[in-house]
Amino acid sequence: MPLQNKKENLSEWYEEVIIKSQLADYSPVKGCIVYLPYGYAIWENIKSEFKKYLEDVQEVYFPIFIPKSILEKEAEHFKGFKPEVAWVTKAGDSELGEPLAVRPTSETIIYSYISKIIHSWRDLPLKIIQWCNVVRMETKATKPFLRAREFLWHEGHTFHKSFEEAEEEAKKRILQYKDFVENFLAIPVIVGRKSETEKFAGAHTTYTIEALMPDGKALQCGTSHNLAGNFSKVFEIKFQDKDEKYKYVFQTSWGFSTRLIGAMIMVHGDDLGLIIPPKIAPIQIVIIPIYYNEDEKNIVFKKCLEIKEKLKKFRVHFDNREEYTPGYKFNDWELRGVPIRIEIGKKEVEEKIVTVFRRDLRKREIVKEEELEKRIEKLIEEIHNELFNRAKKFLESKIKIAKNFEEFKKFIEEGNFVIADHCGKIECEEKIKEETKATCRVIEFNNEEPLTGKCIYCNGKPKYKAYFAKSY
Ligand SMILES: [Zn+2]
Repeated sequence: MPLQNKKENLSEWYEEVIIKSQLADYSPVKGCIVYLPYGYAIWENIKSEFKKYLEDVQEVYFPIFIPKSILEKEAEHFKGFKPEVAWVTKAGDSELGEPLAVRPTSETIIYSYISKIIHSWRDLPLKIIQWCNVVRMETKATKPFLRAREFLWHEGHTFHKSFEEAEEEAKKRILQYKDFVENFLAIPVIVGRKSETEKFAGAHTTYTIEALMPDGKALQCGTSHNLAGNFSKVFEIKFQDKDEKYKYVFQTSWGFSTRLIGAMIMVHGDDLGLIIPPKIAPIQIVIIPIYYNEDEKNIVFKKCLEIKEKLKKFRVHFDNREEYTPGYKFNDWELRGVPIRIEIGKKEVEEKIVTVFRRDLRKREIVKEEELEKRIEKLIEEIHNELFNRAKKFLESKIKIAKNFEEFKKFIEEGNFVIADHCGKIECEEKIKEETKATCRVIEFNNEEPLTGKCIYCNGKPKYKAYFAKSY
């Protein structure tokens, strides 16, 4: 059965492609999905590739429960998360002495502990990360991967001697996210900082990478926060400096989540199904045998296994199911977004060639067996670049500069990423949201000089220019 038309019914297409390609499935719990092997493998690949950026960070694990008294210690932070916190209040039939929050994020539980282990300037910088799940009881409509009540993520937490060091760290991480998302997921992003309204509850500054989905809605793909001393003062995280004085540490926290899988599905997929970027694809190459009788089958299977062995440095799957035709298998693997398909029949065996099909352009080419490994290596780069460039071209075509509020409203309504001057005032931003549903997504690095002399909405003095869009 063909899928929904992606362009016309993005939302339905999105949910359908997730189920049909067996990435995930619905669970009996609203807003929580089951990660099936194929979808979970993508997350595992994302993890293992991103861990290569984290040589200076140590992995830890903290409890999933946060006592109420600890969670509410930093008032701004608590206020920001309060509406979405899930609470455990009972054990069996007996009330707990103190309610326990199921972690919505771990700043508070981690920092209440860290205050006990940082003593001296020699203990700094301290950099830790945990890969875990978090729970936020969304009240808005949920969507697999994009907006869920439970999701998987990592959260990095670092502790520094100075504000400048923390600032440098926060920026370093957001730039790593940009690099990773562009170079592994083939999704172009705009990197910069959040406005006062949109920053993380309790942060001094929040940095973000924002991508644009096909329906013109922005998606926050990762954030990094310079927390300055906001949490260390509350949690008494102090160190004795070289001058023997006790000082508060400066901190950062940063994270990205399984949302990235949602972004990847939306940005690259087409009417035939997923297109998984080759560098994180669970199966990079699928080998499909084509034969018409038992004798051919034996020769062709033997060759397929030989080719599989030859390509073992890639993630290769040999589809040896005998109950399905090659045509069925082609459709199946195209739906599941495998970037490269190798077809081997009698002709290929005899001529020592293979037929290689690429999912992104849906094109075939003949490759000599002896050149196959080199060609695949190059093809992975080519497919990645094709996906990235396609998405980049789309993003660029959707960036519009609004000269006045009428134009602003029109561009937002059409589903664009709209650049406009803004005064930076919280009330003004809220009014814009009320009237257009658009929010300030990002103030781009090294590109915030206002274009005109007045704010797009209130005509006040502009502080910066920023990207506005509706968002997920
Ligand atoms: Zn304004």
